[in-house]
Amino acid sequence: MARLSRRSFLQTAAAGAIAAPLARSQPTQPAPDVVVVGAGAFGGWTALHLREMGHAVTMVDAYGPGNGRAASGGETRQIRVGYGDQEIYSRWVLRALEKWKAREQEFGESLLLPTGRLQLASGWTEELSATKSVFEKLGVAHEVVPHDELSKRHPQMRPEAVEFALFEPGAGVLRARTAMRVVAAAFEKKGGRFRIGRAETPSEAGSTLSRVSLGGGESLSAATYVFACGPWLPKVFPELLGRKIFTPRRDTFFFGTPSGDDRFDHPHLPNFADVGYYGFASIDGRGFKVSPQGEQVAFDPDLDERVHNAYLLERARAFLAHRFPDLQHQPLLESRVCQTEMSVDENFIVQKHPRWDNVWIAGGGSGHGFKHGPVVGEYVARRVAGNDQEPELEAMFRIKAETFDASVFSGARRY
Ligand SMILES: Cc1cc2nc3c(=O)[nH]c(=O)nc-3n(C[C@H](O)[C@H](O)[C@H](O)COP(=O)(O)OP(=O)(O)OC[C@H]3O[C@@H](n4cnc5c(N)ncnc54)[C@H](O)[C@@H]3O)c2cc1C
Repeated sequence: MARLSRRSFLQTAAAGAIAAPLARSQPTQPAPDVVVVGAGAFGGWTALHLREMGHAVTMVDAYGPGNGRAASGGETRQIRVGYGDQEIYSRWVLRALEKWKAREQEFGESLLLPTGRLQLASGWTEELSATKSVFEKLGVAHEVVPHDELSKRHPQMRPEAVEFALFEPGAGVLRARTAMRVVAAAFEKKGGRFRIGRAETPSEAGSTLSRVSLGGGESLSAATYVFACGPWLPKVFPELLGRKIFTPRRDTFFFGTPSGDDRFDHPHLPNFADVGYYGFASIDGRGFKVSPQGEQVAFDPDLDERVHNAYLLERARAFLAHRFPDLQHQPLLESRVCQTEMSVDENFIVQKHPRWDNVWIAGGGSGHGFKHGPVVGEYVARRVAGNDQEPELEAMFRIKAETFDASVFSGARRY
């Protein structure tokens, strides 16, 4: 069983002696080894892995696992191996796919739907060529489907101006919100403690954090803290991350499918990605998903209302009219507004806080983090426990020197 360092153990003992007040409704327990703040894809999986490694872990979340504000709180998220030349992420997805399948068995819950994915293309780009090379190198099943063949296979899609599609048959859809609830339940079943509470921004002097305040005089003490607060990280650490993580809104639309017609339902059409859009066939009859990409409007994860933007709905409808004409007059069934947590280079962030030796930051999922959850969780848990098995990734996951340009925050591009 991996252990925290001797130094951390001494800190645990010290933290236990401080005997921080615990939740009023819960009996006093010894201080945990680790407090994980945030029960999303990054925090939930980290807490589960730390617990499975034998640590005493408390996980705290302001709104609960898979909540409607969290980046991990959507119904569905995509899993696909293609990442251009970023082979490391492709490798991680291959590991993640195996882990998702194993966890499905362990949890007894359907979490991964095999769908395949079509990347529609009007010609070879550097990104696509690199994706194909990495597929070949890693032995990932794929196929280049020419225009005419696309028309035959998927007559419900109009491949106008599409030369070919790069098809990834192993891609799929994850039931995101459900997964986060199941992960938190497994964590508790294995002896982890979960509670609702909002961690305040730490402000302690010194190089070691002794407690995380939850407001109202409550706090949690541990040897080590992991802040996996997703799009809230800039609020929790404004000085460190205020200009390093940007949280643009993402509007997603679910359109009705024609009555008595299952051509637009899973499993009759793979996930699709087009320039500026992506989406999925209707899953469980909940609607055909279309997500317009590229918006740069900052979104407050606590306070902003999740009402879709009329302009983005227009864009989604225009896309349907162009690519899936039989859906263009179908009604909107549902819309969801979420926010991503973009790091400046779209790499994840996993590093110690520069001020406190025992505080870790895990986040920066940058619109692609969900699928990696089981691998990220294992990776962060190992680093926290002093057992980093991939030291070559440390630099990639550091907070970078660059900041987001001020214009991104100005609201100048609001609609
Ligand atoms: C619309 C959309 C589509 C996406 N599509 C995909 C996709 O197809 N595939 C993919 O792999 N990824 C996708 N992503 C990205 C992925 O969902 C995120 O990278 C990932 O879910 C981030 O997880 P997280 O744990 O870092 O953040 P979150 O899931 O947001 O979790 C953070 C948690 O911390 C809690 N919290 C915050 N502050 C505090 C505090 N102070 N105290 C206590 N709790 C706190 C919150 O309540 C929340 O539950 C998408 C994201 C969006 C928004």
